[in-house]
Amino acid sequence: MNERIQTYPVSHTLGYPRVGEHRELKKAAEAYWHGKAAQVDLEAAGRHVRAAGWLAQKAAGIDLIPSNDFSHYDQVLDLTCLVGNVPRRFGWDGGNVDLSTYFAIARGVGAAGADCGCGRRGAAVASEMTKWFDTNYHYIVPELGPDTRFSLSSGKPFDEFTEALALGIRTKPVFVGPVTYLRLGKAHGAGEFDMLSLLPRLLPVYAEVLRRLADLGADWVQFDEPVFSLDLAPAERAALGEAYRFLAGAEPRLRLLVANYFGALGDNLEAFTSLPVAALHADLVRAPGELDALLGALRAPTKLSLGVVDGRNVWRADYARTKPLVERVAAAVGPGRLLIAPSCSLLHVPLTLRNEPALDAGLRSWLAFAEEKLGEVSFLRDSAAGISRPLDEAANRAAADSRRSSPRIHRQSVKLRAAAVTDADARRASPFEARQAAQRRRLSLPPFPTTTIGSFPQTDAVRAARARWKKGAISTAEYEAFLEVEIGACVDFQEEIGIDMPVHGEFERNDMVEYFGERLRGFAFSSNGWVQSYGSRCVKPPILFGDVDRPGPMTVRWSAFAQSLTPRPMKGMLTGPVTILEWSFVRDDQDRSLTALQIALALRDEAVDLEKAGIAAVQIDEPALREGLPLRRAGWPAYLEWAVRAFRVSAAGVRDETQVHTHMCYAEFNDIIVSIAALDADVITIETSRSAMELLDAFATFRYPNEIGPGVYDIHSPRVPGVEEMVTLMRKALAVIPAVNLWVNPDCGLKTRGWDEVRPALANMVAAARILRAEGRHRPAPG
Ligand code: GLN
Ligand code: ZN
Repeated sequence: MNERIQTYPVSHTLGYPRVGEHRELKKAAEAYWHGKAAQVDLEAAGRHVRAAGWLAQKAAGIDLIPSNDFSHYDQVLDLTCLVGNVPRRFGWDGGNVDLSTYFAIARGVGAAGADCGCGRRGAAVASEMTKWFDTNYHYIVPELGPDTRFSLSSGKPFDEFTEALALGIRTKPVFVGPVTYLRLGKAHGAGEFDMLSLLPRLLPVYAEVLRRLADLGADWVQFDEPVFSLDLAPAERAALGEAYRFLAGAEPRLRLLVANYFGALGDNLEAFTSLPVAALHADLVRAPGELDALLGALRAPTKLSLGVVDGRNVWRADYARTKPLVERVAAAVGPGRLLIAPSCSLLHVPLTLRNEPALDAGLRSWLAFAEEKLGEVSFLRDSAAGISRPLDEAANRAAADSRRSSPRIHRQSVKLRAAAVTDADARRASPFEARQAAQRRRLSLPPFPTTTIGSFPQTDAVRAARARWKKGAISTAEYEAFLEVEIGACVDFQEEIGIDMPVHGEFERNDMVEYFGERLRGFAFSSNGWVQSYGSRCVKPPILFGDVDRPGPMTVRWSAFAQSLTPRPMKGMLTGPVTILEWSFVRDDQDRSLTALQIALALRDEAVDLEKAGIAAVQIDEPALREGLPLRRAGWPAYLEWAVRAFRVSAAGVRDETQVHTHMCYAEFNDIIVSIAALDADVITIETSRSAMELLDAFATFRYPNEIGPGVYDIHSPRVPGVEEMVTLMRKALAVIPAVNLWVNPDCGLKTRGWDEVRPALANMVAAARILRAEGRHRPAPG
């Protein structure tokens, strides 16, 4: 390709989906973990997935195809093993890291992973896992300390390069870059230390990798440094420069490409464009406005990779916008200095529209999954080369036109209602104190009232009944009768042990976002649109394509039924607007804030309907509020403003005496506590037990005005907490929160736990609340 590269733009991808068309890799990995398949079977599944990806890209006209973007679990963990940074407790004794050690780091040994649907696992000895930038993909956090040493400890990138070469494809191996790797790491052991101090030890291993790849005949190597999208300290920028000066000099036979994605370069632009590498990749989907600055700062002969096809979302490219853009850049820098690519790895979108028989032609025409995006990249490469493909262009224009005008997407009534929302609509009728008094009169709960977060165990029987109903094997009446029995048993149990504010148990829900998406207009669902969330876990996010409204009540039937079984106040359960937004593929043709507002209005109607049905408390879950935060601090205030407003609009339709709860489950929200208070929920339940109420530090300095339930039962663990333990946690909370405002509840929903654990744990929780009541701390001091 060396000859052609001088005059013709190069199409490439930064990474490709890797779970397989039918989630083969997930199935193979799980079979291997459960002892039902041998390592060779798992490896064969991996080879199959890799080959399929490479060949699909080749067939679609991608010039430069990645390797080492495949992973058996996570690409950050792959790097951890490549550089031999295996934490000591896994007993690794040098040499190449084997698959069982690899999985041990990810999943722990001897402890099963637990999952609550909010993307967290509970294995005690596994390395921590956290979200990859602002995606719903989770990586395994590198553990770093002043004693950390690195050495080349895996042959994976070399094997995969050779494997592709045998198929006739000279790939571009892809690695998490050294500065991103260190920045994503967490200090272990010695308290605070400067992770960047490890860079000089880390770089020689990268250099060795480069040498080996050059020996094997590699031409290009890609380093992902999405830290360029973050706020960087001067030392971090300097480290990036130092790293690439070193690596570029280490192996002159290779061309290095450094990729930034997920955000604008902003004040890191100069540091980025001064890297002495062969090519730089920028995310022009997220930061289209940065192109001119980038062109101005780019130094010849550095090539520019334009990330112009959205790698994070499922919408078809709009050539009317992207074609002129690539043509303009081709004219400015010359086509030979240009690469055309998706904005980021295609890991974050589903593989193909081929297996979506349930999506109608109209909707399909607006979408592009990974395979379809390959076609877009190759079209735009041709455009940049001055070759026009009028048929493709016309089809694209027709789809874009229909998306702009389709009555399925654009519904005037929804737009008008959202446009008419006022500040008053985002405000409850009275301030909290008045509402609290009204709610106390209505609910007459004891001090330290007990409740749960909503879901109860989703047993095999519950899942099986739903599956049979979806297949049509049982009728809706039969399914609903089944759910009523489950709800009845759940309510009975809560009455029996004395839960003060029961819930119906959410047995009708598969997923807290999907359930609502299926009942709202404006959402579509793929049949096979899986994307990797972590390890073998995949999610199938709803596709939010149009104006959202609610054709009818979504949850009222179940909450009202549950309420009919008990005199205790039943808590209704909704998923909040920001969480529905965050966990969906969201339309890109209007501001996310407006989409959130439309969802909020639909939820507001649902809350009002619950109230009309006699429900005295409604919980609106926002576990994803924090993860919606922009990567850069400067973007936080604007986001928080519309996110908080959307929540408030969803909640503010109910009367003062209806109690609004919310729930969140990410431990670090000290830095957004002011916004959490601004939600003005009457009660917030939060995850705290694992950090032993560390979270409450924020409440010591910030006086949280409303009621609060700090979780006392870690639902990510199968362990049943004892009464004393929960009393102790509540005493810690009592130190910073007035007793009259405290609730007693678990950390999160119970759907991943078994009844055998939940029964004793909740009974202990009620016993703990009774002990606190008996202590009388909620009574005003005498005198
Ligand atoms: N109400 C939901 C449940 O209990 C909340 C889940 C969550 O926070 N992720 O399952
Ligand atoms: Zn939760």
